[in-house]
Amino acid sequence: MPFNLDDLTAAEIASGVAQGSFTATEVAHAALAAIDAREGAIGAYLELTPELALAAAARIDEARSAGSALPPLAGVPLAVKDNMNLVGTHTTCASRMLETYESPYTATCVDRLLAAGCLPVGKANMDEFAFGSSTESSAFHRTNNPWDPARVPGGSSGGSAAAVAAGTATVSLGSDTGGSIRQPAAFCGVVGMKPTYGAVSRYGVTAFGSSLDQVGPFARSVRDVALVMGGLTAGGRDPLDGTSQDASADYLEHLEDGVEGGRVGIVPALMDAEGLAPEVRRTVEDAASRLEAAGAQLVEVSLDHLEAAIASYYVIGPAEAFSNLARFDGVRYGYQEPGAATLAEQSALSRAHGFGQEAKRRQILGAYLLSSGVYDRYYYAAQKARTMITRDYLAAFEQVDVILMPPSPHAAFKFGELADPTQMYLSDMYTISLNIAGNPGISVPTGLGADSGLPVGVQLQGPAFGDRKLLRFARAIERSFADGKKSVLPVAPGCAGKGGELA
Ligand code: GLN
Repeated sequence: MPFNLDDLTAAEIASGVAQGSFTATEVAHAALAAIDAREGAIGAYLELTPELALAAAARIDEARSAGSALPPLAGVPLAVKDNMNLVGTHTTCASRMLETYESPYTATCVDRLLAAGCLPVGKANMDEFAFGSSTESSAFHRTNNPWDPARVPGGSSGGSAAAVAAGTATVSLGSDTGGSIRQPAAFCGVVGMKPTYGAVSRYGVTAFGSSLDQVGPFARSVRDVALVMGGLTAGGRDPLDGTSQDASADYLEHLEDGVEGGRVGIVPALMDAEGLAPEVRRTVEDAASRLEAAGAQLVEVSLDHLEAAIASYYVIGPAEAFSNLARFDGVRYGYQEPGAATLAEQSALSRAHGFGQEAKRRQILGAYLLSSGVYDRYYYAAQKARTMITRDYLAAFEQVDVILMPPSPHAAFKFGELADPTQMYLSDMYTISLNIAGNPGISVPTGLGADSGLPVGVQLQGPAFGDRKLLRFARAIERSFADGKKSVLPVAPGCAGKGGELA
């Protein structure tokens, strides 16, 4: 029987390989053929790694021939955001600064997915150093939204989301500092999860805002996201990341248990917010009534200090980014400008030429915010706001299991449409507060918007280390919108079926 990767979930690929329906090598070739046929129109990748994918596949096929038990993601094609180190690839963070930087080691998150059997097919495009919401700040090329090439895939993990939506990877990894997994997932019609801060190791992931950054999965279904979460957390706490905690668990265990008796929080102020597109509002309301029909109770909750979230994030984020990016000085790391007379000049010129506009804006802002006299007014105030937002969430999760809201005020926008940086920052209004508090969140597609015809979806937020509960509620939403299909949305129509066939 012929297989097409477009129709297979990660779970089905792994079981197909384990049962001998096809080999991991055949899967790798099918994924590479899909990339050949589709990537030109999408631009999801900065680097392709066919040799790594084939070598990983060969190891899995040998293990099967030797009669060994196969790992849970055996043969699953994986795309890795280009701020994560993987030996044998560059880790450019989509910046000229790191254009020639070779990964000296493999990030724990990637390593764990390789151990779980994934086939790394390439490094995914992103906003430069993960600053942005559209992938437009990549120094190398744009990534088109697979549902409409005139539109952005979202960001900063735009390549990771687009690869899964285009079916050139079955699962992918992104990082989320202020929404960079959840928002591109919504724009591309796939599932994307930001786990609880500390649940997934950040070791080997280029830091943006160390107190906010978290790695998480993209896939076309909640089940596959849960499967990847199992892989990412297997082995427990990573001693190489001081903030890492043991979140290892069977993420599939209660996935199908439903939401009977559960309490779902709705924040009225967020539903009435200015700029929320009617089609997004309607789909959140629709999801709420479906959860109610499935036995959950809707409860109004307030997050009183949410209006301070964007301001406090755009203080804390740039302040941390400024410290983290100081190492890219052309001496220890990164692009080195030739011909400078002094070390200071060399560093200044290397940074001036190595970084793009947005990366400079964030660092200049961060330097200013941390300077003496200014520090108290902004950074200290932002930390106070952070405490209040975190307390709001703690109080809300005493009343409810999860909170339901939009992932983004609107569906994917056109290239250049949010040219004013402040406008772009404001579009992060639904995702940012979660990183400030450290809680987990997930974006689940619900279908195509009635007005735009583009993917729309909802976001669920959960209590710290309530990642499994979050997935269970997300699965209930997915089940109600998927009408018995494996995922709410298929591989984007412009991509589906081109390559990807398995003999
Ligand atoms: N859009 C937000 C920003 O530009 C979030 C980015 C992210 O999560 N990496 O900071």
